[in-house]
Amino acid sequence: MSASAMLGPVTTGRPARARTHRRPRSRILLVLLALVAVAAVVGVAVVVVPMLRPAGPRPLFQMPVACGETWQLSTYPGHDDYDVDFFPVEGETWGRPVLASYAGTVTVAGVNGSLGGRTPENPEGPRGRGGGYWVKIDHGGTWETQYLHLLEPPLVEVGQKVAQGEQIGKLGSTGNSGAPHLHYEQRRGWEKVETYFDGEPSGITTDEREQILRRVSNNCPAGS
Ligand SMILES: [Zn+2]
Repeated sequence: MSASAMLGPVTTGRPARARTHRRPRSRILLVLLALVAVAAVVGVAVVVVPMLRPAGPRPLFQMPVACGETWQLSTYPGHDDYDVDFFPVEGETWGRPVLASYAGTVTVAGVNGSLGGRTPENPEGPRGRGGGYWVKIDHGGTWETQYLHLLEPPLVEVGQKVAQGEQIGKLGSTGNSGAPHLHYEQRRGWEKVETYFDGEPSGITTDEREQILRRVSNNCPAGS
């Protein structure tokens, strides 16, 4: 039989359905399935599609600490590639202002894991799990920054717009933290990337060995 013959008028020969005998239960099931399908499509559209967009240009991130201060940036075996721990070189560590690296919208402001009990009054208190009090900021173009182990509940809330240099929390030791410090990450899309500050890479790209370096923050008010 030729292809054109197959494309001729089609009759299925299927008898007309006796719709009156269809049970309502199957209709409810179909509606539920349709709702689930719609929810799945919306979920993919809202969560996955934005992550698949090509990344925008790297924002001009600044160190998450006060303008002009020198801080130690470090990592250690078992940390995670690209993760950076910040310790001040001078002055009190507890409660130091933690600043937004760049303008953006807060997407997380809460507790990761558990807080534990490490405070300025009891620095060797029980260790928590995970990041403790933490903040995540969306900078657009799939770029994000994360700030962990804050001392107290973050000073910002989800959905809030923050400016570069705005204080988002205080440095602490909540979560799985050995000593007061700020654990910091920059992410592009799904993955962590090497941290850049003031347009310069930090050089911390692996946790295969301990690394300690010093940098001066240029997270300064505009126009200064
Ligand atoms: Zn860390």
